[in-house]
Amino acid sequence: MNYVVHDRPDIISENLFTRACDHGFNQAFGLMHQRSNWGLISDLLVDIHFIDEKGDGGGTIDTRQEEDTILIEINKHQSVNNILLTLFHEIKHVEQIAMGDLKESIYKGEDTKTYEYDARPQEWDAWEFEKIAMVTFLELVGEMGNA
Ligand SMILES: [Zn+2]
Repeated sequence: MNYVVHDRPDIISENLFTRACDHGFNQAFGLMHQRSNWGLISDLLVDIHFIDEKGDGGGTIDTRQEEDTILIEINKHQSVNNILLTLFHEIKHVEQIAMGDLKESIYKGEDTKTYEYDARPQEWDAWEFEKIAMVTFLELVGEMGNA
């Protein structure tokens, strides 16, 4: 998985954020050579931008499929915990898109366009993933003695 981070806020160190990205992508994708509908996942680029969103939203995801690039935006005005949860949440959406499960509002064949945000199955899956990824990440950094 290739990714680039832009405008990381000082509240989270480059070291910790890089490890969180690696952990999230490993949790979501496992083996890096498995196929997605965009060819090899290793060819996919994820562009991670921290943005100046002042609202409640944690993050967003967008696709630029013609460039094999997925854009993640993360609200930089959040706690470290919430930045990590947002990152893991959006990484799950990257996996849903890359594996062909999510396209526009169609998730695993189900059109969720008219669903309330809270009722969308792709969000339920992303919320479940962000919690599991967070717990396993805290275990990982704890074992490294850097928690
Ligand atoms: Zn989401």
